[in-house]
Amino acid sequence: MEAAAFFKIGYGLYVVTTRDGEKDNGMICNTIVQVTNTPARLAVTINKQNFTHDTIKKTGLLNINVLDESASFAVFQRFGFKSGRDSDKFEGFEFTRGENNLAVLSSCVNAVFELRESSYIDLGTHGMFICDVTAAKVVSDKPTMTYAYYQANVKPNPLAGLQKAAGEKKKWVCKICGYVYDPEENDGVTFEDLPSDWVCPWCKHPKSDFEPIG
Ligand code: FE
Repeated sequence: MEAAAFFKIGYGLYVVTTRDGEKDNGMICNTIVQVTNTPARLAVTINKQNFTHDTIKKTGLLNINVLDESASFAVFQRFGFKSGRDSDKFEGFEFTRGENNLAVLSSCVNAVFELRESSYIDLGTHGMFICDVTAAKVVSDKPTMTYAYYQANVKPNPLAGLQKAAGEKKKWVCKICGYVYDPEENDGVTFEDLPSDWVCPWCKHPKSDFEPIG
């Protein structure tokens, strides 16, 4: 099985926003697709390790903010590289609220969907939420941020300035999000010595999605 084949599938990139009590949260997601037209339904698939998964399970509500090509790397860092469990994703970030009171990004978004969970499919590592669309709005005509555009134009080149010196323990980079695992920043633990179920702290992809630098 060629892993590269999976990268040929076209994806958009989205910020899924949720609200648990008074806590707003948001995460980057690419696994969103319209599955039926009448009624309009979207399937949203979320890794169970994400705080967002638990919040949707609890509240049944979520918004999809469709990112456009103006979204900067800072937007991906903010919503993609840390957990809402221990941080406020919206601190210092401008947003409004939808009819369902969930957060809506004020910039770099070309459309917004408000969703309500109608059913749930347990996919092991992930949960798929089949959702009714309760509101849909076009915000701008800017092109949607695709995963390919992100890889080519938004994600910093992790190899730039990271030359491995002789005798240094090897750094590994996540091919998905660009996170760099540096043994020097992890008590000298080499990437090879990490447990097999270790996942990328940013995007939660497995060790198999990493490649060595240098
Ligand atoms: Fe990653």
